[in-house]
Amino acid sequence: MLADAQHLDNQDALKSMRAAFALPPGIIYLDGNSLGPLPIVARERALEVTAGQWGTDLITSWNKHQWIDLPIICGEQIAPIIGAGPDQVVCCDSISVNLFKVLSAALAMQGDRKKVITTEDNFPTDIYTVEGLQGQLGPDRCELIKVAEEDIEHSLDDSVAVLLVTQVNFRSGKMLDMQALTKAAHKKGIMVVWDLAHSAGAVPVELDAYYADFAVGCTYKYLNGGPGAPAFIYVAKRHQAHFQQPLSGWMGHAAPFAFDNRYVPAQSIRQNLSGTPPVLSMSVLNAALTLWADIDMAHVRAKSVALSEFFLAALKNLGLDDELRCIAPLIAGERGSQLAFRHAHSYAICQAWIDAGVIADFRAPDILRIGFAPLYLSFTDLWQACEKLKEVMEKKAYLGEKYQRKLAVT
Ligand SMILES: *Cc1c(COP(=O)(O)O)cnc(C)c1O
Repeated sequence: MLADAQHLDNQDALKSMRAAFALPPGIIYLDGNSLGPLPIVARERALEVTAGQWGTDLITSWNKHQWIDLPIICGEQIAPIIGAGPDQVVCCDSISVNLFKVLSAALAMQGDRKKVITTEDNFPTDIYTVEGLQGQLGPDRCELIKVAEEDIEHSLDDSVAVLLVTQVNFRSGKMLDMQALTKAAHKKGIMVVWDLAHSAGAVPVELDAYYADFAVGCTYKYLNGGPGAPAFIYVAKRHQAHFQQPLSGWMGHAAPFAFDNRYVPAQSIRQNLSGTPPVLSMSVLNAALTLWADIDMAHVRAKSVALSEFFLAALKNLGLDDELRCIAPLIAGERGSQLAFRHAHSYAICQAWIDAGVIADFRAPDILRIGFAPLYLSFTDLWQACEKLKEVMEKKAYLGEKYQRKLAVT
């Protein structure tokens, strides 16, 4: 299969993008769905923003280097990647904080309705955020209801205020139909909040075309913004006049530097800002996002599907497909840009594979997760990774003592 891999690499429309990343030699990185690798322009910007801007121009940099506009600038860079027109995306805080803002605002827009429906296997922070809001507003104004993914549609009726869904399941990789669910929810007067953590930069998303209401997402996964890079929030233009997020801070004020003691929200997406933006990480993100300027998401999707199909074929070719049970949908159109496998020793296998030079990740309780980031991964990488996995499995290297102890971050 090595020859097949090389052939696919030769035909790869995105192959020139690999050179834009500082990938450590000898490592195959299959975890770009958890922390994207370092783009070379981001490394350069980190130096420039510290030594050159902060170190030289000090506070004048807020104007001189447009620090004050970074949340908006980064938002506008993300917008085309998720199918959003201008003035609807801003970069700030984390997904968790942005969920709190958007869920509070959406509930307030829904009058007497109080139910928030989400999936029982959603990413925990999404569930915790609704629970926190329920604790604060009281059960009469916010009621969390968790349903199975396959029951979402049946659970939508006109007593529901908000549907909160993650498009691509972080464990299984299963992708929900954003257009169909948004439409079904709107028929019942329900507003939808989409979590795009595993979608932005991974699959084509068309927020405006699907008439989406709200979305949140992070930038440190497929968008390669760096560890803890700020998240984003999307509020459809048609909702902005009625939308009021509760973390009203000076950066979301119509005129922050008027230092007016009366809060007047900015009449724009900027209202979603609360405090001072983290300039260092946002500058690095701004640089990392320049990589996407000429990227066609259709190419990204086509390569993502081809990579994951190749990986499955390689596992089969090496006789590993029985032992590693794939829990991601086998139909490529039904999954995001990742695969997931069950094995009783997943954690130890992942650790032994890392020692062999291949970084994937483990998700409790027993899942080995493989992310396919089309900007820098090659088919040859995947073949080599599978050969190394075969060695780990055959020699049962993962049974070694040192692979059994779980580290703080898995
Ligand atoms: C990664 C991830 C998050 C992360 O949330 P933060 O608050 O930005 O740390 C949230 N939701 C989903 C679905 C994720 O995969």
